[in-house]
Amino acid sequence: MIHIIGAGLAGSEAAWQLASRGHEVLISEMRPRWTTPAHSTDRAAEMVCSNSFKSDDPYSATGILKAELRRMDSLILRCAKATRVPAGNSLAVDREAFSGMVTAELKAHPRIRWEEAQVACPDLTMPTILATGPLTSEPLAAWLADLTGNGSLHFYDAIAPIVERDSIDMGIAWMAARYDKGGPDFINCPMDKVQYERFLDALLAAERVPLHEVDTPYFEACLPIEVMADRGRETLRHGPMKPVGLDDPRTGRWPHAVIQLRQDTLAGEHFNLVGFQTRLKWGAQKEVFRLIPGLEVAEFVRFGSIHRNTYIQAPRMLDATLAVKSIANLWIAGQLSGVEGYLESAAGGLAAAFAVDRAVQGLVALPFPPETVLGSLLHYLAHASSKDFGPTNAMLGLLPPLPEGLLDLRGLKRTGGTRAVKSAKGRAHRERALLALDRHLQ
Ligand code: FAD
Repeated sequence: MIHIIGAGLAGSEAAWQLASRGHEVLISEMRPRWTTPAHSTDRAAEMVCSNSFKSDDPYSATGILKAELRRMDSLILRCAKATRVPAGNSLAVDREAFSGMVTAELKAHPRIRWEEAQVACPDLTMPTILATGPLTSEPLAAWLADLTGNGSLHFYDAIAPIVERDSIDMGIAWMAARYDKGGPDFINCPMDKVQYERFLDALLAAERVPLHEVDTPYFEACLPIEVMADRGRETLRHGPMKPVGLDDPRTGRWPHAVIQLRQDTLAGEHFNLVGFQTRLKWGAQKEVFRLIPGLEVAEFVRFGSIHRNTYIQAPRMLDATLAVKSIANLWIAGQLSGVEGYLESAAGGLAAAFAVDRAVQGLVALPFPPETVLGSLLHYLAHASSKDFGPTNAMLGLLPPLPEGLLDLRGLKRTGGTRAVKSAKGRAHRERALLALDRHLQ
């Protein structure tokens, strides 16, 4: 018997994958008797906020990840296809019909037993996949905190926006470190006084996501940028927008304020706005942050957000198959493992199921190749820096760089601009990923 705790996006996919491979599965799901501040039904795979599995563009990271999951017969994607609603280039679903279908599939499966139970302390004599999500209930979170040791369990997520490097105007921004300490690793966007005041007015007026019961109090060391701005018009100039030690090469002087961007992915394609965690609405983030000189046409890979998010320090705890390194019989999947998003959570559930399937047969688990989007996510969990580890979405920037010279990037940019470069890169990543996955599955 394999125990799956939590029938969310990850747990549902994991249970179905294992049952399909002939294993007896026990699902323990606490709802509806106990619930979370975000869930409102008794169904499996409830989508607590948006109803979208993001872009279906075949050459985007989420498009490639979907193609990978479909090749492995994902339950979540099969149900999403059956309950799809029109949403342009995105895969969005009728959330009620979707979770209803996932629940029906799981409950009708002859090898799946479903119990309504809030697990506080898993019985690790059985292989167990912990998939209790960002709102893992208190008793289990306490057990996990004990298990992971001090500082290895996070309850709070403050995310700064990430932009594509190619969309930053480097005629305005420049690379440097404060006081030239270390390498010139940061992209710096300068502001004069007029620009700063205009930015501040827009920031203070911008629409914020309303406070919701799932939110935890802010950490003083990690306040949203707009909350800092509320405290006074100079606060940001002494905080994340301080200009000291940053000589603008165009003037030789420190600007009035500076926004720094830090590389976010190994390939250097994505940069995050340092200290810009925010709870502005996404549309407002785009408007306000595009007022920053150099970011006028910035393409956002991820918007900032702040919400409760229980997740482990994956690089310390997990290997690239989602197995907990120090504890036998335990795998952690979904948002709790440090991925972000419905699709990524479902993908983690599938990967954990593959690993458990091999483990119970006495076989060594094989990590998915890092050239696949799924493999790159799991590789990130296992190998990212544990010091400043934060949850991640699927992104092309997590994949190993494409071989040098594979694409004529200069030529593509000349003839088709950044869009042509982006789509050629996406196409090359997709081809490489699906080839690597096919080899792996064989
Ligand atoms: P979940 O889907 O949350 O599933 C976990 C399950 O475990 C739940 O059913 C829960 O009831 C159960 N459980 C918890 N504790 C126990 C216990 N002790 N015993 C038994 N069962 C337990 N992602 C997006 O892609 N788009 C969004 O719009 C989005 N909005 C979000 C909004 C909020 C408020 C939050 C918190 C997260 C959001 N996410 C969003 C992030 C994330 O992708 C989803 O939370 C996703 O559902 C995670 O999947 P999961 O399987 O890891 O967890």
